[in-house]
Amino acid sequence: MRKERVWARLLGLERAVVESVEIDGNGQVVAAVRPHHRERDRCGVCGRRSPGFDLGEGRRRWRALDLGTTIAYLEADAPRVRCPEHGVVVVAVPWARHGSRFTLAFEQQVAWLAVNTSGSAVAELMRISWRACGDSLRAQVVRRRKGTWWPVRARSPVQVQVDKRTRLSLSHCSTKLYCCCCSNPGFP
Ligand SMILES: [Zn+2]
Repeated sequence: MRKERVWARLLGLERAVVESVEIDGNGQVVAAVRPHHRERDRCGVCGRRSPGFDLGEGRRRWRALDLGTTIAYLEADAPRVRCPEHGVVVVAVPWARHGSRFTLAFEQQVAWLAVNTSGSAVAELMRISWRACGDSLRAQVVRRRKGTWWPVRARSPVQVQVDKRTRLSLSHCSTKLYCCCCSNPGFP
C-alpha cells in the first residue's frame, strides 16, 4: 500500500487525497489534503456542484483524531463557490461538516464519549473546550434530524449522567439527552 493511502487510513479519510505529512513547529502532525476530483467545487451547505468564486481566506485546518499521543490536523485550501441557492459559500469537504473546525471522525468520537461519560472528562481527554464539545454534540443532532447520518452508536440504552461540576447549560443537557435517545436501539 502506498504511504499516502496509509496516511489516509490512519487519518480516517475517505474521498480525499493526502498530499504530504509533516510535523509543525509545535510538534503537531499536519497532513496536507485535498478532496477527490469529483468532490471538488461543491456548495458547503447543500453539496451541489457550483461554479468557483474565489480562493476564500486561504488554507484552513481541521482538528483530526490524535495519532497516538500527538495532535493531528488536516490542512487544505478552502475556496468559495457561488451556489444558485446559497450564494457565495466555502466549498464542502468530505472530511468535515460545513463550518466545523473538527473532522467528522473527531466529532463522532466526541459525541460518543459525551453520551457515555461526563462532559469534563470528554473535554480533557480530547483536549478541547467544553464549548467545542457541545458544538460537536449539536452537530450530530442536526445530522440525525436530517437523516443523513446515524449519530451515536451505543451498545445498549444509555443512562443519562449529568456532571454538575461541568455546569451544563440547558441547551447542552437537551442535546445530550437527545443523543441518548438517538443511541437507543428502540428509538424510531
Ligand atoms: Zn448550496
